[in-house]
Amino acid sequence: MRYDGRENDQLRPVNIIPGFLMHPAGSVLIQMGNTKVICTASVEEKTAAHLKGTGQGWVTAEYAMLPGSTATRKKRDSSRGKVDGRSTEIQRLIGRALRSVVDMEKMGELSLWIDCDVIQADGGTRTASITGAYVAMMLAFRRMKAMGMISEIPVRNAVAAVSVGIVDGQIRLDLPYEEDSRAEVDMNVVMTEAGELIEVQGTGEAHPFTRGQMDEMLALAEKGCMALYAVQRQALEAFEEEAPLEAEAPGSGEAKEKQEEESLTVVAATQNQHKLKEMRAIMEPFGMKVISQKEAGLENVDVEEDGKTFEENSYKKAREIMALSGRIAIADDSGLAVEALNGAPGVYSARFAGTDKDDDANNQKLLSLLEDEENRRAKFVSVVTMVYPDGRVLAARGECPGHLLRELRGDQGFGYDPMFVPEGFEETFGQLSSQVKNRISHRARALSRLEALLREEAGKER
Ligand code: UDP
Repeated sequence: MRYDGRENDQLRPVNIIPGFLMHPAGSVLIQMGNTKVICTASVEEKTAAHLKGTGQGWVTAEYAMLPGSTATRKKRDSSRGKVDGRSTEIQRLIGRALRSVVDMEKMGELSLWIDCDVIQADGGTRTASITGAYVAMMLAFRRMKAMGMISEIPVRNAVAAVSVGIVDGQIRLDLPYEEDSRAEVDMNVVMTEAGELIEVQGTGEAHPFTRGQMDEMLALAEKGCMALYAVQRQALEAFEEEAPLEAEAPGSGEAKEKQEEESLTVVAATQNQHKLKEMRAIMEPFGMKVISQKEAGLENVDVEEDGKTFEENSYKKAREIMALSGRIAIADDSGLAVEALNGAPGVYSARFAGTDKDDDANNQKLLSLLEDEENRRAKFVSVVTMVYPDGRVLAARGECPGHLLRELRGDQGFGYDPMFVPEGFEETFGQLSSQVKNRISHRARALSRLEALLREEAGKER
C-alpha cells in the first residue's frame, strides 16, 4: 500500500484548469496531487536568432520553483546571483518535449515562450510542467489562429509526461516527493499520444535496474500518459465551451449558467449503455448532466471489479474515473441476490456463467440452478457511489425485492430483468416500461438516496 492509498498503477488526482490567467495567450494551472504548476504560453512576434530568415518559428521554455513551493524556502535565482542548474536542465527538457510535436515551418517566424512556474512541489514537477504546458501551448495556438497569426494549428500530436520508478521494490506510477526522494529507480517519461517516446530519463539511484524492469516501467508510464491525454483533451474542450473568443464576460447570465452546468457534469463510470441510459433518465430531473466514459475520453478504461461487495466495486470504479477525468464521477455496482443461493450471484452477476456479460448464458444458468427450488425470492441491489475531485465520497444502496420466474419474459431492460418480477407487480423488468422500472428499480432507489445525500451536502455548504 502506498502512503497516499493509491495502487501502484494509479495516477494522483489530475486536474487542469484552462485559461487560468488573463494575460498570456494560453495558460493553465495543472495539479497532480499536491504538485501545482502554472504553465503559460506567450507569443513573441519574432523567431529565434538562429532561425531568422528561414520562415520557421521556435518554441522555448523556462521553468522555476517559487520560494514558497518547497518545504524549506527556496532562494530565488535573482538573490542567489546564479542560475539553478536543475531548473536549466528541466526547462530544456520542456522545450524539447514541446518542439518535438510542433511543425516549426507552419508556425512562421514567431516564438512561443512557455513558462512553467511551480507554486507547490511534491514530486513530478517537470512531468506536470510538460503535461500542462502542452495545453497552454494549444490554447495559445488556438488564439493565434483566431487572430489570423497562423493559418492552422501547427501541432502534430499531444504530448504528456509522467514519472515512474521502483519504490519499496515495486514498480510505481507518478511518484510524489515521499516516494521520489527514496526511489531505488527513478524515471521520467515523455511521450506522444501516438505512443512514441520523446525522452526517457531513467536512473538507478539505489541499484542498477534490468531491461525487463525498464520495459515494465515504460508500459506503466504509457498507461499513465494515456489517462493524461484524456484530461488534456477535456481541459481543451471545456475551455472551448466555456470561453470562446467572442464569449461574453464571465459572471454574465449565460456564462454563469454554463459554469454551473459544467460543475454539474458527472462522468458515469460505466461502459454499459443500458446503465448509462438509466442513470441519465434518473439524474436529469436533478439538473445533472451525465456524460459517458467515452465522452470523457476514457472509453478504453475498464476498471477491474475485484471487490467482494457492491460497495467496494462501486467505490473503486468511481474513484478511478474521478482520478482520470478530474471530474465528479458516479459509478454503480449492482447485481441480483437470490435467497435460495445465499445471495449469489451477487457481485458476480455479470459474469455468473463465466462468459463476460453474456445475459442469455447467465439467465439460463440461473434458471437451471433454480429448477427444483420453491423459494423464488430474490432482490436486485445497487450501490451508487459518487466521488468528487476534492475527495468527498457519497454512497447509497438501493434494493428492489421480488421473485424469479421459471422462464424469461419481455425484451426490455438487460441482465436478469426478464426473469425478475418486482414486488407489487405482475410483469417482469423485461416487460415493464423503462419509466416504471426507473421509478422502482434498485438503481432508482439508490439514486434517490443519493439525491437526499446531495441535498444534505448542499445544506452543509450553505
Ligand atoms: N525538491 C525540492 N527542492 C528542490 C528540488 C526538488 O523540494 O530544490 C523536491 C520537490 O518536491 C520536487 C521533488 O523534490 O518535486 C523531486 O525533484 P526532482 O528534481 O526529481 O524533480 P521533479 O520530480 O519535481 O520533476
